[in-house]
Amino acid sequence: MKKLTIYIFLLSVFILLSCSAGNKKTAGQFKTVNDITDNMLCESCGNPLIKNISTIHIVQMENGDLHKYCSLNCLAKDWNKLKDTAEDVLVMDAKFKRFFHAKDAHYVIRDTFGRSKKQVTAYAYEDVEYARRFMKDFWGREIVFFNDAIRIINSPEE
Ligand SMILES: [Zn+2]
Repeated sequence: MKKLTIYIFLLSVFILLSCSAGNKKTAGQFKTVNDITDNMLCESCGNPLIKNISTIHIVQMENGDLHKYCSLNCLAKDWNKLKDTAEDVLVMDAKFKRFFHAKDAHYVIRDTFGRSKKQVTAYAYEDVEYARRFMKDFWGREIVFFNDAIRIINSPEE
């Protein structure tokens, strides 16, 4: 009986410790869409990240802070103030719904036409083959790397 009590005690300590560790995620802990919880919001537009899973971006800063965005469009608004001290950027693979490094991403740029103005969206693929297929099937404009994708999104309407 005593052994069981000790066992239960140790188990609770373990559970408590893993819970508190769970609150402090690092970028490396974001692996798939399963690591996105309902309460995580986009820092720019305030929407829950889970609503826009295909385009989530996580920015890890040198000081360990994490910034989360629902899309490259939302990240692009803050990128000027982040870029000098950003250590890494993770992006969701639009095909496989798992995170990888944005520096390795092939972004398909797509024009979408809203009611009043033209909008640009960017979907990231680690494998350029899937990027090419998406571009062909959904009338993408071009495939670019991270910095160019940010520049296109931030450039004024043409
Ligand atoms: Zn957003």
